[in-house]
Amino acid sequence: MNNLLFEKLDAIESEIINIRRYLHQYPELSFQEEKTPAYIAEYHQKLGHHVRKNVGGRGIVATLQGAKPGKTVALRADFDGLPIQDEKNVPYKSKVPGVMHACGHDGHTASLLGLAKVLNEMKDELEGTIVFIHQHAEEIAPGGAIDMIKDGCLEGVDVIFGTHLWSTEPLGKIQYRTGHIMAAADKFEIEIHGQGGHGAQPHLTKDAIVIASQLVVNLQQLVSRRVDPMESAVVSVGAFEAKNAFNVIANSAKLTGTVRTFNEDVRTNIEQEMKRIIDGTCYTANAQANFTYSRGYPAVVNHQEETEFLAKVAECVPGVSIVEDMVPQMGGEDFAYYLQHVKGTFFFTGARNPEWAVAYPHHHPKFDIDERALLIAAKTLGTATLQYIKNNR
Ligand code: MN
Repeated sequence: MNNLLFEKLDAIESEIINIRRYLHQYPELSFQEEKTPAYIAEYHQKLGHHVRKNVGGRGIVATLQGAKPGKTVALRADFDGLPIQDEKNVPYKSKVPGVMHACGHDGHTASLLGLAKVLNEMKDELEGTIVFIHQHAEEIAPGGAIDMIKDGCLEGVDVIFGTHLWSTEPLGKIQYRTGHIMAAADKFEIEIHGQGGHGAQPHLTKDAIVIASQLVVNLQQLVSRRVDPMESAVVSVGAFEAKNAFNVIANSAKLTGTVRTFNEDVRTNIEQEMKRIIDGTCYTANAQANFTYSRGYPAVVNHQEETEFLAKVAECVPGVSIVEDMVPQMGGEDFAYYLQHVKGTFFFTGARNPEWAVAYPHHHPKFDIDERALLIAAKTLGTATLQYIKNNR
């Protein structure tokens, strides 16, 4: 059965690539997607799948009912782009100024649509149901996943699989991991209110730049002195704003940054300890601060049995040469929410062309993928689907 799947996918490789190139030229920003979900819905409708539009906002859920009873497998692909100007010099470069598919979500969608077409051709032999979850707005928290789940996209689903193409990992590599694979991604803002004044009279002021600078340094103690060395965390200040004339002492300053963690307890602890450090630093300077901590996506935590299953299945996929137990990465993904509701696993599909001297990372203006990875992603998701159904008759 899997050989048939592979043959059928091979036969439509150029169609999958063309879908990806079409989507690549017309990217849409998170929570503003219109043409993309319409395109996806139409593709599934032509195949005769049951299609629900506007799921949780802008998501599309298509269902393929096999001829025989069996398990329900969900496959998820996201479809939003990013506010980045495409600087690649290729015929399929983005035609939308300032918007680009710089994370490969066009590829996720193309792979899933191609796979849907092939599985549809096999529906007479198919046992069970396949739910294609096409998710809007992965790039910006709160993301599309929560609302799609609230709107019932996981109803009746036994297991979910999803993959991310990865431009800096070689073509032919599949990376998996049991437990946390991606981090919780939070944002913080700290506004320091001192007392401005003349640059020549510091003793009459509360210098917000000096206080904020102390804070930047004091925050470094969080990871080095408050987090168990066996746990992982990142606290990064990404912006420090306090613009004044050269002879002015700052009245206020603002720090913005991100916190990345895998463990919920560490996450909660960092938030509490940040508050203490901010209060303490401001107390010393007799200044005030407003602290806002916004939780983004939780960590992506893969289920063991489904992950081990996926790793085993991936080894049999043509084109896959390395199946690797990966080191977790600190990026965030709202696939996390699906895994809080149903069992499943999220894995990475290498998409770096071996000929490239430089592989631009995700969210880079010159980001691109080796399109041969589309077929590998589709084959891996497809064979996982069929094998899961077979194993769980
Ligand atoms: Mn992404």
